[in-house]
Amino acid sequence: MTEKLHAVALAARNRAYAPYSNFYVGAAVEMEDGTIFGGCNVENIAYPQSICAERTAIVNAVSAGHRRLRRVYVIAEPAAAPCGGCRSVIAEFSTADTEVIMANPEGQSYRMTLGALLPHAFERHETVPVVQESGPPPER
Ligand SMILES: [Zn+2]
Repeated sequence: MTEKLHAVALAARNRAYAPYSNFYVGAAVEMEDGTIFGGCNVENIAYPQSICAERTAIVNAVSAGHRRLRRVYVIAEPAAAPCGGCRSVIAEFSTADTEVIMANPEGQSYRMTLGALLPHAFERHETVPVVQESGPPPER
């Protein structure tokens, strides 16, 4: 059941912009309604301005109005787990049970839950309460 995720992530990886690391990564995120968004890493000569494939895919999904992740699929060679920053961004739109699949381009993969990848995630109750899931901010 991961063929579509693999195809989207692989297509995204083929568009990765990684002239500095030569580490090409593609990601696909499946939202709770089944919609899938892809993303690739986009590096910048000012290194901190680079963005990972996972965050690109999530930004694509959120920009299209989606908020809840069901699965995350990441392709790299070799297969690699999301970085710490991406784990936190995944957590923003997931639960501890959200599945994260790490694959290589040939489709060999391993799976973990977000809870295993990011135990004791910084959660909303530890920040300012969020009263609204989507849409523009409330009028003041
Ligand atoms: Zn990352």
